[in-house]
Amino acid sequence: MGNFLAIDIGGTRFRVAHFDPEGRLLQVKHGETLHSGGRDWMLTQLREYAAELTGKNRAAIQSCGISFGGPVDFKRQRVTSVHTPGWKNFALTEWARGIFGVPCLVDNDANCGALGEYRFGAGQGVESMIYLTLSTGIGSGIICHGHLHRGRDSMAGEIGHLPLTDSEEVCTCGLKSGCTEALASGRAMGRKVQEFAKRYPSESARLLALAGGEAQNLSARELAKAAQEGDTAAISLFMESMRWLARALLIAIRLLDPDKIVLGGGVAQAGDFLVQSLKKALQEWWSPMFPYTTEIILAKLADYSPLYGAAALAMEAGR
Ligand SMILES: [Zn+2]
Repeated sequence: MGNFLAIDIGGTRFRVAHFDPEGRLLQVKHGETLHSGGRDWMLTQLREYAAELTGKNRAAIQSCGISFGGPVDFKRQRVTSVHTPGWKNFALTEWARGIFGVPCLVDNDANCGALGEYRFGAGQGVESMIYLTLSTGIGSGIICHGHLHRGRDSMAGEIGHLPLTDSEEVCTCGLKSGCTEALASGRAMGRKVQEFAKRYPSESARLLALAGGEAQNLSARELAKAAQEGDTAAISLFMESMRWLARALLIAIRLLDPDKIVLGGGVAQAGDFLVQSLKKALQEWWSPMFPYTTEIILAKLADYSPLYGAAALAMEAGR
């Protein structure tokens, strides 16, 4: 039995790795994504990185799984992302089969993150869970009865685009529908904290100090840090986003009543503070009529959830 090739293509980073038949990570190579390089540049990197890993490792590859940081039509095994040049309607699986000569499957990074945490991380042994990736944007993957629920159009789990309120803000999806992503993503928090610091510099002393005195350097990271330290303005801004996120999670809980909600992505680096803040926000809408025991926890595999999910996909492809 050979090893598995797992690939994680992200907007800022990409990774190529070997996993053994038991799902243990053997070796991994990282690279920074060159946005202007588009598809062709990325494919060249993947081929070279994979060849280097295979050169070091005697065991043959039996199948391949790919996590892609953008929309994927799972049924057609095509990338449908329009954010980077050359990816729209690209048959990535066919390309990988041609290059590596083994069966392959591709899915989006949120679904792969869910698979990774379910098989190898914080979601092991559960019947149902939602994996939420909180970074620049917001994505999620749903595990139901032990399987990833992708839906008719491979669009299930778009918690980032639940319309939560009337809004003048245009979301990345093109709508002014007060999406979770437009209100509570890392990008949204960064925008809000920058606006606040520019408008109320005297109330933003601690925030500005964390950002080297420059309001435009502020991001969700500084906001979470200042809030965690007890800074009043930061707490209020951070909790505003948490309340929107809690609304989205409550909708998901009401629909699915999952065993666990697993939080990953860059914003989840705020750790237990994020979990406690979310729980506090959820508490506002607690109803004894509809009690739930869904656990809200942090991802175990951190940055690697999608990569492990790609390994799980590779195992599925090789079956
Ligand atoms: Zn949206």
